Amino acid sequence: MTTGIRAMVLREPDRLELELFERPRIGDDDALLRVEACGICGTDAEVLSGRIPLADAVIPGHEPVGRIEAIGPRAARRWKLAPGDRVVLEADFGCGRCLGCLDASTCLVSPGTFGFVPTKTAPALWGGYAEMLYLPPGAVPHKIDARIEPRIAALYNALGAGFAWAVAAPGLRVGDTVAIFGPGQRGLACVLAARAAGATRIFVTGMGARDAAKLALARELGAELAIDVEREDPVERIRGATGGAGVDVVVDTTPHAAQPVLDAVRAARPGGTIVLAGLKGRAVPDFPTDEIAMRRLTVRGVRAVDHRSFRQAIGLIESRRLPLERLHTHHYPLEDAALAVRTLTAGGERPAIAITVEP
Ligand SMILES: [Zn+2]
Ligand SMILES: [Zn+2]
Repeated sequence: MTTGIRAMVLREPDRLELELFERPRIGDDDALLRVEACGICGTDAEVLSGRIPLADAVIPGHEPVGRIEAIGPRAARRWKLAPGDRVVLEADFGCGRCLGCLDASTCLVSPGTFGFVPTKTAPALWGGYAEMLYLPPGAVPHKIDARIEPRIAALYNALGAGFAWAVAAPGLRVGDTVAIFGPGQRGLACVLAARAAGATRIFVTGMGARDAAKLALARELGAELAIDVEREDPVERIRGATGGAGVDVVVDTTPHAAQPVLDAVRAARPGGTIVLAGLKGRAVPDFPTDEIAMRRLTVRGVRAVDHRSFRQAIGLIESRRLPLERLHTHHYPLEDAALAVRTLTAGGERPAIAITVEP
């Protein structure tokens, strides 16, 4: 059989292969999405490499954009969607009915995440690296203006994280000062979200030559200072720029580095908030407990994107107020999904910020 729905399946680490699947039959309560683009992030790299271990084969991809291909009558009423509508999806889905689902937190009955449900669970098409994606009754699709290009719409996840981490988690207020550690996709999204939420002064850090272009872009997107931590002490620089006070909010998006956590404690003003978003893969040595207590700092951990942050991200994309196309740097056909993920982590000739896989 050579016809069917094309999808990239991960059966073991670093082996992503094209397979064909049958088109699922849609009932009253579910839908089928024709994927136009799927964003990728650091989580995709962890899944492909096996650092996030999976027991069974999956179709990865949790940041899909597409058009409604087929939809059941009850799902159409509930989601206010019709065939042809362009939507983006929240990565997590649930039963749609329990208390967890109703208050838009985590489902208490049958939580799931696109890109992580095994293909052996019918109807197999649970990931965004595919031509079609199955939307179960508990999925949370958001309609997005169909005039927005799919690869720009695919920024909804990164921008959602920007609002969740730099605005919602620290309770950012108009006039606040913010330092964002790391100029990657998430860090730059934090710059845009903080600026949209009314932060007056934004500082961004990066590392050396490999981040030079991203730091320059951070400046263009509204950061006042772009600090190369290989050449300057970020704490001194941030304190110097704030009259010795430090910033209201620090968001650390850097992966696998301990020093930024220690820097964050010293760059925050007394009573300020530190948001820890980058996973380190180990404990931070010499964690300055006393300094956190003495300076009355709030430390918050963040992971996923909440419902409201998704809505804010979509609103910002639809407003066309920002040069979001500057963030999208690469796109690859479905068959090159593994190359897309490698490019995000290893970079290439041009700096990689936001990348899409496009069936
Ligand atoms: Zn992601
Ligand atoms: Zn639920």
